[in-house]
Amino acid sequence: MTTKCERCDAALKFDFRRWLLSGFLVAFWATIVASGVAAADRPNILFIFTDDHALNAISAYGGPLAGVAPTPNLDRIAGEGMRFDNCLVTNSICGPSRAVILTGKYSHLNGFRSNGDTFDGSQRTVPKLLRKAGYQTAIVGKWHLKSTPTGFDHFEVLRGQGQYYNPMLITNGEEVNHTGYTTDIITDRTIDWLESRDEEKPFFLMCQHKAPHGRWEPPLRHLTLFDDMEIPEPETLFDDYAGRSPAAANHEMGIADHIGDHRLMLKYSSRFTPEQFKVFDGYFRPRNEAFLKANLTGKERTRWHYQRYIKNYLRCVRAVDENVGRLLDYLDSNGLADDTVVLYSSDQGFWLGEHGWFDKRWIYEESLHMPFLVRWPGVVEPGSVNEDLVSNIDFAETFLAIAGEEYPTDMQGRSLLPVLKGNTPANWRKTFYYHYYEAGGHGVPIHFGVTDGRYKLVRFPDDKLDAWEFFDLKNDPQEMQSEYDNPEYSERITAMNQELSRLRRELGVSDGDRQ
Ligand code: CA
Repeated sequence: MTTKCERCDAALKFDFRRWLLSGFLVAFWATIVASGVAAADRPNILFIFTDDHALNAISAYGGPLAGVAPTPNLDRIAGEGMRFDNCLVTNSICGPSRAVILTGKYSHLNGFRSNGDTFDGSQRTVPKLLRKAGYQTAIVGKWHLKSTPTGFDHFEVLRGQGQYYNPMLITNGEEVNHTGYTTDIITDRTIDWLESRDEEKPFFLMCQHKAPHGRWEPPLRHLTLFDDMEIPEPETLFDDYAGRSPAAANHEMGIADHIGDHRLMLKYSSRFTPEQFKVFDGYFRPRNEAFLKANLTGKERTRWHYQRYIKNYLRCVRAVDENVGRLLDYLDSNGLADDTVVLYSSDQGFWLGEHGWFDKRWIYEESLHMPFLVRWPGVVEPGSVNEDLVSNIDFAETFLAIAGEEYPTDMQGRSLLPVLKGNTPANWRKTFYYHYYEAGGHGVPIHFGVTDGRYKLVRFPDDKLDAWEFFDLKNDPQEMQSEYDNPEYSERITAMNQELSRLRRELGVSDGDRQ
């Protein structure tokens, strides 16, 4: 009987211990190797996304406001990673840009053409594919697609636009009220999710701010920021829209006449606590009263509007930058920085007074360009700058490629992986198709067009307009003069028109999509 045999018993115990020990060592080694492979091949993906953040309000882009409104934390991503100078949005408006990012498909295929639409969450999206591939998926902040988020292990989102103070976040279906400044709270909740996540899996985390979307209510701590200076005015603040089709002149996004009391902080939008209101109103009320008493007119009034608008916008951006810094610090202090790809972008560009405008929508440069910064230690060369034509149509494919996954062939963009590695393929796109559908929003008609970075051809198909524009961006970077009727450009215009037709065929845009 083995139980009575001391030698046998001892041998058994010895074998068992040895088996246990060797098993433990093998398991331990396997874990080390596996985690090493996981770190190298399946990095975490942190997508920090804002709403309406213009390139000119990020100092890494070196625009006219870089000196007065620095963004050191966003600049840190650029300095430690790649800055994309030509990331173009397919449809320059909030919800549609988000739908493109989730699906890798243009608006006419993902079904979300304008902010009035509801996103079909049953379709294939990048969080669903990454979750299937073993990623933990979460979204915190602005969603803006109406339907309930799908494909996320955790969602915690604002309803619609949300508000700058004391937001309600729909947290996996439950309404949860928070007290404080929304940009700070979205970061708090993002860090809270990171703290509670399953550390055995890589994560795909979308941290999406409301800011700096209007109506620009700054945090209490930055109410007096920029008080002691005049922000430089853009050269085209008093654009008269001559030299182009009637489309631009018909706009309803003028800082002079359309910006309205809520966007100027002459009225407030958030529901404040009494303590918040005392400080907020204590700052704005005396200044508003002085403005109303002065009864400014004409350019003086527009200039006051511009200063009020741009300062509040930049104060909101300051809070964004601080909160980006908090997330970068969290990655550092938790040993996650090396294994996490950090991508920063915003759903489109924005007008900071150029052409006299606030808002976005147009195919023109400032609203067409999205900020895009990517840090990926060991893969992306620090401080690199890329000028290829890339787009939010490439984001889904890129997220999947970072995770080592194939992307579906019906996605319409391309993975930026080789671009991030500094090896842009020779057959990378040389032209880009744009299509805006939200007819009449801020007076902007439906339009579509093509650009190759040097030239831009624009079509306004509306029966009343029935117009074309053509810009030479090298000679006219501010797009003040359409050359569509200039015979010197006729061959170029013909070639661009052929390219426009080719892109529409390739992307499956039918004539019906003109309306
Ligand atoms: Ca937006």
